[in-house]
Amino acid sequence: VSAIRAARGRVLVVGAGPAGLAAALAAAARGAEVTVVERAFAGGNAVAHSLLPSKVRIAAARDLAAVAAWGAAPDAGAGGVLAHLRWRREAARAALEARLAQAGVTLVAGAALRFEGPGRAHVAAPDGGREVAFDAAVVATGSAARLPAGLRPDGRRVLLPRDLATLADLPARTVVVGAGATGVEIASLLSLTGASVTLVGRGPDLLPGEDPALTADLAAQLAARGVELSLGREAWAYEPEEDGVAVALAGGERLRADALFVATGRRGETEGLGLDRLGAAPDAAGYLTVDGRGATSVAGLFAAGDVTGPPLVANKAVRQGAVAGAWAARSAGARTDPEPACFDPTALPTAVFAQPEYARVGAVPGRGPHAVVEGDDRGGLRPHVAGLAGWSARLRLAVDGEGRVVGAALLGEGAAESVLALAAAVAWRVPLARLGELAPVVPSAGEALAALAPDGI
Ligand SMILES: Cc1cc2nc3c(=O)[nH]c(=O)nc-3n(C[C@H](O)[C@H](O)[C@H](O)COP(=O)(O)OP(=O)(O)OC[C@H]3O[C@@H](n4cnc5c(N)ncnc54)[C@H](O)[C@@H]3O)c2cc1C
Repeated sequence: VSAIRAARGRVLVVGAGPAGLAAALAAAARGAEVTVVERAFAGGNAVAHSLLPSKVRIAAARDLAAVAAWGAAPDAGAGGVLAHLRWRREAARAALEARLAQAGVTLVAGAALRFEGPGRAHVAAPDGGREVAFDAAVVATGSAARLPAGLRPDGRRVLLPRDLATLADLPARTVVVGAGATGVEIASLLSLTGASVTLVGRGPDLLPGEDPALTADLAAQLAARGVELSLGREAWAYEPEEDGVAVALAGGERLRADALFVATGRRGETEGLGLDRLGAAPDAAGYLTVDGRGATSVAGLFAAGDVTGPPLVANKAVRQGAVAGAWAARSAGARTDPEPACFDPTALPTAVFAQPEYARVGAVPGRGPHAVVEGDDRGGLRPHVAGLAGWSARLRLAVDGEGRVVGAALLGEGAAESVLALAAAVAWRVPLARLGELAPVVPSAGEALAALAPDGI
């Protein structure tokens, strides 16, 4: 039996988030014998704590705010949203477990893994530990919140994004520290519920490094909805108070609120994993460096998803996971043809689910050497249907010297959906003029593209 097993190649995947699941399925599809070890359950942090809970909360807040905007009074308590969230999480978990089982992958859930040496790992389960042998491994252990020194989240006054999964009531007065994607999403979500929100960011910009014109627009829209922006201000001290929390900003200002949301960045989840026993060394932020195959510097050891560093997004985790799983199967001696693809992040889109949404792919318009071409749907019908005074979608493209689209940023309705078409344009280096030939549906946010038409409609 062991000879047959060795011939198939044993691939061990650590973590069952988007990266680990994709790696496991890709390795199994190549005929490897795959075991996934997961501390919690299938779906990973994405399903349990981060992506799914935050998006369900945002969807609920948007729907309720939209109902209110039409003059009706929504009456849905937070209890309804929480119950829905729990149901969604269990549905996702069951679907993912079924998918693994169908692919013949063994899932060991509720057990933490630690590497013991080349080809050997220890799985610690509540009912006792056991040893696992492997020919190749994929580390897909994700990331964890990085907290300011001395700050302890308590699930009540000092909150982490993961608390969105369990909080019965969102706080009425909140300070959000961190103006990256997560902080902006949380501030936007809270403002939709009518809460009072102050967003503190260390740098001068919202979403540092993103399109300066569109993020300035987003900042203005959040401010118009009542979000107090405190940008270019360092939060340097936090004091829990009897009925809330105080945040001291550099320069002396002191903010008081019912709760503080900390969204100050993340680190790779590699502590205690025993990577040193394999000869692998994560960087100072806990991230593992990999090449386009997902291979680390150690033979037979692959990594994918958040643990390989920014961008920390699920679509990267899935693509990189699938690639790393296929290469791990090959390295373990499973099927070798055809040669697996490599992961190329050039046309990887990312989105921020604020209201309005922001999405971007490729070169950042307004931040590089490229020319910027702009469009919006002001001249279309979509804003009139939506009852808006201005546009509902704004688009900026980075165009190279040969007139090809190398980057795009969108702000507005459906940005996270529309960005995939622009990712195709970036991946295939479509000339701007060809993009302008498209005839977007009316009314739709895609009407912003019409402004790029060569005949200037
Ligand atoms: C609030 C928030 C909102 C987000 N929203 C979005 C979004 O809308 N869209 C998007 O694309 N991305 C979003 N993200 C990012 C997204 O959640 C991550 O990029 C994604 O989860 C990464 O997938 P992963 O598989 O690398 O890791 P994870 O989903 O973190 O899964 C890693 C798994 O490994 C397990 N693990 C760790 N160590 C061990 C061990 N020693 N033994 C066994 N198991 C272990 C963990 O329990 C975990 O289940 C959001 C993140 C946050 C914080």
